[in-house]
Amino acid sequence: ADLDELDRAVSTCRRCPRLVAWREEVARVKRAAFADQTYWGRPVPGFGPPDAALAIVGLAPAAHGANRTGRMFTGDRSGDVLYAALHAVGLASQPTSTHLGDGLELYGVRITAPVRCAPPANKPTPQERDNCRPWLARELSLLRPTLRAVVVLGAFGWQALLPVLAAAGWEVPRPRPRFGHGVHVRLTGPTPLDLFGCFHVSQQNTFTGRLTPAMVEAVLTDAKAAAGL
Ligand code: SF4
Repeated sequence: ADLDELDRAVSTCRRCPRLVAWREEVARVKRAAFADQTYWGRPVPGFGPPDAALAIVGLAPAAHGANRTGRMFTGDRSGDVLYAALHAVGLASQPTSTHLGDGLELYGVRITAPVRCAPPANKPTPQERDNCRPWLARELSLLRPTLRAVVVLGAFGWQALLPVLAAAGWEVPRPRPRFGHGVHVRLTGPTPLDLFGCFHVSQQNTFTGRLTPAMVEAVLTDAKAAAGL
């Protein structure tokens, strides 16, 4: 199986009843500003080339962002911050990501998430996180030949990712390294993998100044170098 097949398969998944109901309800009711649009309303596949050297792991699609547009971090404020930073450090062809077909390309980067369906209040349950884990595991195993670094946005993604990396053969230290902004851990395994922690690019973090564009760019710059990009 290749990544295209995986992307098609994940976008039909209905394993979590609560999330299926929510993603479809949001897609039907819509936000007034997007009333004329057809929402995606399905699980959101990863975005970026199949031979990426750097993966960015978030949390889950936003109800009116990726759940509307069908592409990770596309069409919401979190994505505005992330894609501007990716462009600033030379990893994206343009600073904005508004809709499928907007021409955006990522250079050596794949953006994905441990939970693929928009959850109420951006909070998946532990069961939903576990249900979704095989999708991320399969995606990372397909990326493994080229993957050299991962940027994890937030503690949820960090905690969801470490077991996946351990199962895929990377040596994750015990006790498991804790998430923090600026944390950098090098894992050994099939190939060395540099893990970087970054606060999530959520509005809660960026509007309050807990996370600034310069902080995101600094982590991405380190990760880009570690990935050899
Ligand atoms: Fe399937 Fe993951 Fe969506 Fe659950 S969250 S329905 S496992 S794609």
